[in-house]
Amino acid sequence: MINPTFRRINFQAYKPGRSISKNSKKVIKLSANESALGIGKKVQKVIKAFDNKISKYPDGKFKGLTYAISKKYKCHQNKIICGSGSDEIIQMLCQLFLKKGDEVIVPQYSFLMYRIYAKIVDAKVIFSKEIKFKVSIEEILKKVTKKTKIVFLANPNNPTGTYINNNELIELRKKLNSRILLVVDDAYFEYMVNKDYRSGLEIFKNKKNVFILRTFSKIHGLASLRVGWGYGDKKIINELYKIKPPFNVNRIAQVCAEEALKDKEFIKKSIKHNTLWCKKIKKELKKYKIITNDIGPNFFLLNFNKCKLSADKIEKKLEDYGIILREMKSYGIKNCLRLTIGSKKENLFLLNKMKSIFKNV
Ligand SMILES: *Cc1c(COP(=O)(O)O)cnc(C)c1O
Repeated sequence: MINPTFRRINFQAYKPGRSISKNSKKVIKLSANESALGIGKKVQKVIKAFDNKISKYPDGKFKGLTYAISKKYKCHQNKIICGSGSDEIIQMLCQLFLKKGDEVIVPQYSFLMYRIYAKIVDAKVIFSKEIKFKVSIEEILKKVTKKTKIVFLANPNNPTGTYINNNELIELRKKLNSRILLVVDDAYFEYMVNKDYRSGLEIFKNKKNVFILRTFSKIHGLASLRVGWGYGDKKIINELYKIKPPFNVNRIAQVCAEEALKDKEFIKKSIKHNTLWCKKIKKELKKYKIITNDIGPNFFLLNFNKCKLSADKIEKKLEDYGIILREMKSYGIKNCLRLTIGSKKENLFLLNKMKSIFKNV
């Protein structure tokens, strides 16, 4: 008997930041860059009072949500598309732009979903070197060939936590061949208090060859509802709507996302919390010679090269206390861990346990 055949998929499935520990009962998950403060009051309210329209299909054109987005960020409603997480938008972009043999450039240590979706459509993924865990414009430009179709860039970058400044980002677009789409993933832009930083949307709102990604999974705390959005040239958006599954973002997600945008107080509180704890944690970790990126997004890449203990060792010891960090081997980064900023209680617990770990070394 001959069985049905299928394409060969030559890579591992995406491994999310772990949420279950082997031994511990109560787990503190600092491995997936989720919101430290959960969700805001406005979202809590709509979830509690959620209406009975679940039996009806959701709005596949996202009228309410895209209107709210366009008002908040002063951009065009008809240049927005929503996805089941920004993940799905990355997937749709790859389907639209790439065919076999096309090339995609991603920085060496970048978000894994870019390379996964590019490979699914048989594109070739080209890695550009980073310098001290920071994206290099020159290195990206060096990798451009006639076959290059897309450059993917998260700014700030995940998992390194570093960012390229306003001028560098503008320079990249200027020097990059205009027929190549630059995708700027703004997943963590809200947290950025750094003066020389500007989000992709702010800089490139009217550019036809830049596509922006945004998510509700991070500062807004809606990771589990799966909702994100993309912003780009009207012509690209129109085509993406043809590719898009008709009801890809469920109704609860759309309504909650709209409420989340309105909750200025929660956003402000989250930013303040993040900046405060980034400072504290960075300073504490320095005592153990654990080096981190500068303050910015809601996570740190912890580098243990100068530390007495290795990343593996710390990962295990913290896990014994029920604290889970993100291992970095799947990203190809040695002797590092990624730490998400947690709630006050979680952060204090972490720092306290670090102290115990280092007391005896
Ligand atoms: C977390 C993250 C996203 C968000 O993914 P969703 O699918 O919207 O949950 C996108 N890009 C980067 C770089 C991220 O770290």
